[in-house]
Amino acid sequence: MGYEDKVRRVIPYTPGEQPRGKVIKLNTNECPYPPSPKVTEAIRNLEISDLRKYPDPLCSALNSAIAEHYGVNEDQVFTGVGSDDVLSMIFLTFFNGSDPVLFPNITYSFYDVWASVYGIPYKTVALREDFTLDPTEYLNTVNGGIVLANPNAPTGIAEEYSVIRDIIEANPDSMVVVDEAYIDFGGETVLPLLKDHENLIIVRTMSKSRALAGIRAGYAIANSRAIKYLNDVKYSVNSYTMNTAALVAAKAAIEDEAYFKEITEKIIKTREETKKELRELKFLFGDSKTNFVFARHEGVRPGESSADFARRIFEGLKERGIFVRYFNKPIINEYLRITIGTEEEMKALFAVLKELMA
Ligand SMILES: *Cc1c(COP(=O)(O)O)cnc(C)c1O
Repeated sequence: MGYEDKVRRVIPYTPGEQPRGKVIKLNTNECPYPPSPKVTEAIRNLEISDLRKYPDPLCSALNSAIAEHYGVNEDQVFTGVGSDDVLSMIFLTFFNGSDPVLFPNITYSFYDVWASVYGIPYKTVALREDFTLDPTEYLNTVNGGIVLANPNAPTGIAEEYSVIRDIIEANPDSMVVVDEAYIDFGGETVLPLLKDHENLIIVRTMSKSRALAGIRAGYAIANSRAIKYLNDVKYSVNSYTMNTAALVAAKAAIEDEAYFKEITEKIIKTREETKKELRELKFLFGDSKTNFVFARHEGVRPGESSADFARRIFEGLKERGIFVRYFNKPIINEYLRITIGTEEEMKALFAVLKELMA
């Protein structure tokens, strides 16, 4: 036995594979394009001798660049080691009540992991069959907080501004977290609601639309009081989360609006072309507003179910060096989540897909 009965046992989040070598990676929603040339410049200009010093624990230069970008005050911004770190701190800070925190049954699969590891009671609320949000339960239930990814993952579905707004307004006594990881690819941000709603915190990431998954940078925007609570918890866990290189790279990325526009527009264009091709191959999917498509198929071989098809295609693509995401979980085990890559990568994907479906 030894120490075993004193261990905090958890079932961890399973990240997508990071295969080595030359593969086509359409499995973790990374950006297919490199980061802004301004990021290259910022990292090249790093004074290596400065690395002997701790980074700025306030992340002032980065936070003020983010604040300026969104027209808020610096004390309304919190940055972390990817939005995963930001969300984890949010769970630890704002979900300290006894009523269950609510989030959809199909959403980012890290939410229930954080709730479990921190001992936060939670309850999942079923999405409708078309993966849209049914607001009823969020509007009428006492809860310990609410977490909504909008657009949602892995479904790709964006909710109307008014749906999210009504949920925030119906829950003045709970923090409502809106995870806008994919908002730069479509959907409508609830940023304008920050002004009048103290119970709203918006989370963003630099991993997808700003091509910086490897640097690990994410941020939250809220009212200054909420950010203060968040910082109190952060400084009780680790004062120096953001490293010196990440701070300058993330700042350069948020400042290069022109490049950001260029790559997000390219991805959106490729996404719409991808939908067209998938439709021609008789795939079924909702109207993704993200940098991925979540699609199923009725099957092409005699007796082949949607789940059989998804598994077979997932494996077949992988054998040929093309990685997409497959979740072996109830309801979504019929789907493939395909990240939007470059036009060439999508061409390669469709060539192999057609082979596998012939
Ligand atoms: C990718 C993703 C994140 C995490 O992003 P990082 O900033 O890389 O930690 C958070 N939420 C959702 C919905 C995501 O898809």
